[in-house]
Amino acid sequence: MEWAEYLLSREFRQFILDNNLFFPLLFVGRCIGITAIELIWPSRVVEYRKVMLKDLAVACLYFFVIFPCAIYLDRWIAIRPNLPEAILAMPFPVRVFCYFAVADFGHYWIHRLMHTKHVWRIHKWHHAPKYMYWLAGVRTTIPQQVIVNLPYIFAWSFLGLTPWWMELAIGAFNAFQNDWMHVNVTWRSNWLEWFLVTPRYHHIHHSDSPLHYKANLAALFTIWDRLFGTYVDPDSIKEPLTFGIGEEVPLVRLAVGV
Ligand SMILES: [Zn+2]
Ligand SMILES: [Zn+2]
Repeated sequence: MEWAEYLLSREFRQFILDNNLFFPLLFVGRCIGITAIELIWPSRVVEYRKVMLKDLAVACLYFFVIFPCAIYLDRWIAIRPNLPEAILAMPFPVRVFCYFAVADFGHYWIHRLMHTKHVWRIHKWHHAPKYMYWLAGVRTTIPQQVIVNLPYIFAWSFLGLTPWWMELAIGAFNAFQNDWMHVNVTWRSNWLEWFLVTPRYHHIHHSDSPLHYKANLAALFTIWDRLFGTYVDPDSIKEPLTFGIGEEVPLVRLAVGV
């Protein structure tokens, strides 16, 4: 079992880090693992052969162009507060919780802003797919990514000096979170929805019914929807959902956000 030993070795880990292979390998794992889960417990029929190649191309665009460009632009506009010592002295798990709570609160309001008349165009592409599965949520324009990153960069200050793996762990978490929200599974998860966004919870947000245009905007914690009046109980939805933006917009305009 020499190869297994090598895979667990410090050498292999260093090789992955030196060559920036962590996220590409994670992506391959997500493709195999999450697609397999969807094939076992599918909620709706998805024509993977028809949509997946296109979505993989969008994922590449996201990885190599959209995200790096957004991070570059955020350097000029993001706020990184210097937090008081008292906050930075709190135990690490508490600060990690603060990071998620603050970032997610900001994400909720940025998302809400993107559902207003004038900003909607930069977010429309995310809602364009008429199907729903884990990779359907990969669409984001550069302006959308720029403003969605802001609360996460702001909240990063709560983490203070972090261990070397924290950036990778949070990056992996964010990727899984986005997959999870869109994943095509039948799981009923009412108890979880008291705290967390689940697939069926976020799928309502992608519904093309005008009733749901501002429903379930939260990304991680459902409390924001409950507090600020955008909560729709997944159990109250009796009809099957259909997805999309209900209009045909040229792909280039969607992808650029104009
Ligand atoms: Zn939205
Ligand atoms: Zn979505």
